[in-house]
Amino acid sequence: MIIVLKKDATEEEKDNVICKIKSLGLSVHVSEGEERTIIGAIGDEAKLAQTSFESLGGVESAMPITKPYKLVSREFKHDSSVIDVDGIKIGGKKIQVIAGPCSVETEELLLDCAEKVKASGAEFLRGGAFKPRTSPYSFQGLGEEGLKYMSEAKKKTGLPVVSEIMDPRDIDVICEHVDIIQIGARNMQNFRLLTEVGKTGKTVLLKRGLSGTIAELLMSAEYIASQGNSNIIFCERGIRTFETATRNTLDLTAVPVLKEETHLPVFIDPSHATGKWHMVAPLSKAAVAVGADGLLIEVHSDPANALCDGGQSLKPTTFDTLMKDLRKVAEAVGRTL
Ligand code: PEP
Ligand code: MN
Repeated sequence: MIIVLKKDATEEEKDNVICKIKSLGLSVHVSEGEERTIIGAIGDEAKLAQTSFESLGGVESAMPITKPYKLVSREFKHDSSVIDVDGIKIGGKKIQVIAGPCSVETEELLLDCAEKVKASGAEFLRGGAFKPRTSPYSFQGLGEEGLKYMSEAKKKTGLPVVSEIMDPRDIDVICEHVDIIQIGARNMQNFRLLTEVGKTGKTVLLKRGLSGTIAELLMSAEYIASQGNSNIIFCERGIRTFETATRNTLDLTAVPVLKEETHLPVFIDPSHATGKWHMVAPLSKAAVAVGADGLLIEVHSDPANALCDGGQSLKPTTFDTLMKDLRKVAEAVGRTL
């Protein structure tokens, strides 16, 4: 249920509404807009059936949220959310690019990559320290050591860093070193993990599962938001279909669908979607054209010798050319980059 307060509602009237919601066993989420305060009563809406919020003082209107996802829905918050990470705005006019290697390999390689992607205009550095590999014999990432290299790269370049969490036991060490926590495709429905990242105030990049529907993706975000953390970025990274020409099938329609359903920013990851470096540029342009708020692109200084995902990683020079081309596409759709 969304309860919109009148412009001149008093603090007492607001508290009264909040007390009423709590007394019914639902949780309260207050969103202070420029003009009005909106209060969300989240939980089992059947418990609200007997209550007429509109008859309470200070209340302008009360309406049910019809979608199963509440806090992340556009019904709950009409205006698009802009998430601030270290002063960088995600979800605004400027398209943000997160770039870097699939995994952190050495401190030198990471720094080299960080400096190059920064020079090309990326605002965030990515790098996996805990890697979800299909084979237990593949490189699993450097773990905490890798996260420390990410912190160092941030100190040297100023780029905020993005890295994946796979296990709730790593939450403290991840929070210490990372600015945006990535939930990978394989963990989209790891509900314990979602709940734990929801308890942090950190921005979360939530990837769509290999066979996750958009509705399921939204429900996963709701797990995070229900813990009080609505700093969530959606990331479409391709889904599993019958097609084998590419690693996954990039569902570009996810962008307009998510934009309609949620107020949160939406990114595209063309690297994991295609698995092939030469397809990254055309799909990045398409992503910007369909309204994505940002891109997650794998860049490696030496893709041929990368320990993970070299085949889909761009060389820094190719990335630089892409960024220049993307600026033109961004401009054509009323955005900047
Ligand atoms: C990654 O970003 O490194 C990754 C493993 O992505 P995904 O979870 O989308 O496969
Ligand atoms: Mn990768």
